[in-house]
Amino acid sequence: MTERSGIHDPLVTFVTTDYAGITRGRSITAASYIPGQAKTLGWVPANMSLTPMDLIADPNPWGSAGDLRLLPDDDARFRFAIEGSATALDIVMSDIVELDGTPWICCPRSFLRNALDDLRSETGAELVAAFEHEFQIFGAGWYSAPAFSLQALRQADPFGPALIASLREAGLDPEVFIAEYGKEQFEITMAPCPALAAADRAVVLRETVRELSRNRGWRSSFAPKTSADGIGNGVHIHFSFADSKGRPTTYDAAKPGGVSDLAASFVAGILKHLPALIAFTAPSPISYLRLQPHHWSSSYTWFGDQDREASLRICPINRVGKSDPAKAFNIEYRPADACACPHLALGVMVRAGLEGIRAKLAAPPLFSGDPALLCSEECEALGLRRLPQTLAQALDTLLQDSTVCSWFDPKALETYTGMKRMELKLAGDALDDAQCRRYAEIY
Ligand code: GLU
Ligand code: MG
Repeated sequence: MTERSGIHDPLVTFVTTDYAGITRGRSITAASYIPGQAKTLGWVPANMSLTPMDLIADPNPWGSAGDLRLLPDDDARFRFAIEGSATALDIVMSDIVELDGTPWICCPRSFLRNALDDLRSETGAELVAAFEHEFQIFGAGWYSAPAFSLQALRQADPFGPALIASLREAGLDPEVFIAEYGKEQFEITMAPCPALAAADRAVVLRETVRELSRNRGWRSSFAPKTSADGIGNGVHIHFSFADSKGRPTTYDAAKPGGVSDLAASFVAGILKHLPALIAFTAPSPISYLRLQPHHWSSSYTWFGDQDREASLRICPINRVGKSDPAKAFNIEYRPADACACPHLALGVMVRAGLEGIRAKLAAPPLFSGDPALLCSEECEALGLRRLPQTLAQALDTLLQDSTVCSWFDPKALETYTGMKRMELKLAGDALDDAQCRRYAEIY
């Protein structure tokens, strides 16, 4: 850790990433945080009804009543320097618990943990995941540079190296820094790790990119669209399975696409419930500007082998260097963006996948092509259903899917849908550049 000048009593912040996908928290002096001592900080139930616009949904199930605690997970502390920041960023991922320490029904991190526990106890499988983020940088005064170009990478220098250094110090495994297709758009990929840690790392990544950009006088944004006709910023969630000994169980060379029975049923479960799931994974009004055909973002319930229009894509096996295909084999969930809470997004994927495993659902057919060129019977035979095209539709679809609703305490569902309906009201009907800019400033 770099020592810094100035009079600073370092703070550690207990954080939670809420239904709005916003990371909030409270700080204490780092000296007073002693791992293992179960220190907690106060929290308020109605906070979960906060819209991205900072107004609390009205009505909401909580009102002014009640108290909760933020319980830090000592194993999920991230403490590291960010170029240009006066003090280290020191955050501990925390669960929201009742005053007696039991998990609160709306805590997204507990939701994910419970889903992973059920997956493990019912199937013996451990979920491994990696979040891949796209974002844009504004205000840097750059020249326009071609897509994917060295110019775009070098112009941003030393943003990339500074970002990688911070993430490495934080204990993350950043892999590839990419100048993306869009204007001033970048992407960073991370190595896979156990699923709860992957969601925690997504939070760390987003906040590090934001802080590093701010420190340079720039503004970064993960919003799914920063202009109505511009390129989309996706969050692609890669997943695979391991057994209790860490051996990969996603790959089976004998099966279509190389997908093992376990993974195929998991995928089938996700596809079955996908139209409802996107209310959580693509959760803002402008998310639906991104989820359109021919945007490489996914817009159908579509299982594809190496096709970037698919909602669930089998990622390619790199055979250069003769690495073991089973180790690297993974599947990517594409209809997600950074307006979503990573824990909630991954949690609903796990719940849906587990339903598929319980029902022993067969592998969905693989498709590559353009669904627009198929007749409705062909689409149906291939399981290709168009995803909801607005957030309002996605919320209605969610409430019609009794299986998805059953994963939540009714009050938690009421909190989520009530907050989203209020967000829709505050956002208004326009899905234009001004709306995208508004979201770009929040996310
Ligand atoms: N930007 C695209 C999206 O919105 C993804 C492009 C890619 O495949 O990397 O998801
Ligand atoms: Mg990309």
